[in-house]
Amino acid sequence: MEFDHILIRFGEMALKGKNRKHFERQLLENVQFRLGEFRRAKVKKTRGRMYVLLNGEDAEEVMKACQQVFGIYSLSFAIHTENELEKLKEAVLSAVQAENGARTFKISAKRADKSFPLTSEDLNPALGGHILKNTEGLSVDVHHPDVELKVEIRHEGAYVTSKDYPGAGGFPVGTTGKAMIMLSGGIDSPVAGYLTMKRGVEIEAVHFYSPPYTNERAKQKVLDIAQELSRYGKRIKVHIVPFTAIQQKIHKDIPDSYGMTITRRMMLKITEKVARQQGALAITTGESLGQVASQTMESMNTINEVTDYPVIRPLVTMDKLEIINIAEKIDTYDISIRPYEDCCTIFVPKEPKTKPNREKTVAIEQSVDFSGYIEEAVGNIETIHINGKSEGRKQESFADLF
Ligand code: ATP
Ligand code: MG
Repeated sequence: MEFDHILIRFGEMALKGKNRKHFERQLLENVQFRLGEFRRAKVKKTRGRMYVLLNGEDAEEVMKACQQVFGIYSLSFAIHTENELEKLKEAVLSAVQAENGARTFKISAKRADKSFPLTSEDLNPALGGHILKNTEGLSVDVHHPDVELKVEIRHEGAYVTSKDYPGAGGFPVGTTGKAMIMLSGGIDSPVAGYLTMKRGVEIEAVHFYSPPYTNERAKQKVLDIAQELSRYGKRIKVHIVPFTAIQQKIHKDIPDSYGMTITRRMMLKITEKVARQQGALAITTGESLGQVASQTMESMNTINEVTDYPVIRPLVTMDKLEIINIAEKIDTYDISIRPYEDCCTIFVPKEPKTKPNREKTVAIEQSVDFSGYIEEAVGNIETIHINGKSEGRKQESFADLF
């Protein structure tokens, strides 16, 4: 017998009532979405659990994919069999033999289907005895076994599982609302997106680009990052905002030392507009306190002044190395370090204010009328749909959305 299923256990068990139904339905949808490339695999939901029927798909690969889905607490390979003692014996033996290197084991049988004639107390020695008779070098250890074989007798048949694998934790993406992430193509913002999704938040992305100062490949980088992020949840819309005119205007009419601060304020203002239009209730950024001039306490205070939207900054207290570790784990790092210029690096002033004064910034900004520029930028947004698979990107103009 071979492992023919993967058992999925949910996290955050405190959820109750209606929330729980929503949580489970969304998780099912997300697992199905993630397993889209494994065409033969089927996902089934039973009370409080989910099973993936492998149907010949590669067990290890499907396990890896499931481990990326938020809202899953732990997973195990499982053998599904009929509620029949001889079949159960065969299943536990196969399961323990698959655990190379295990020297001790324990059987934990549970009878959810009470019509099954043998109790757990009958099953444990019967199944354990069968293993001892048919293997060499294995012994029972009920306190600290190398492998615990769980046998669950359910109405629809029995499941035998062994080792627990960790799930990604968090909540299923789509259960706690939507946020607009400012996605730059750097190392940090993709990680911020990932961590926001972990808490069940669906994300859409805004990216500012400045042609001809930034090229198509810089844009492609952001789309490739969104592609990686969409593996962890749902489809992602990327709103590409043409930012050249605003940057040129700032460069021309704003004192150099305030250029960076006001650029960031414009970005945040526009992001809030897009968030509002798309029904997102928060903005996420990859800012980390003290990392660069725009991320000092004074800068954050002054930049944040333009919006009353909650700004989620998952990286605010993290060190660069911690962030890089996550970026590597989620496969965005190699994309982020591709050497294309970002719109901000090009216009970056020689000596940006690291401690901008809030009132002074507002006064300087008010001396220039940006409203037409902002409208123009928002009106010319190009929206690209990233669907989690490598093919099939749909493009639409922003105007189609409203
Ligand atoms: P990152 O690695 O995410 O680019 P960073 O360390 O380069 O961050 P900044 O350039 O100060 O830091 O950017 C801070 C945050 O502002 C970014 O994490 C991102 O959320 C947002 N941001 C910066 N540039 C852009 C851009 N071109 N488009 C959209 N968002 C941006
Ligand atoms: Mg950057």
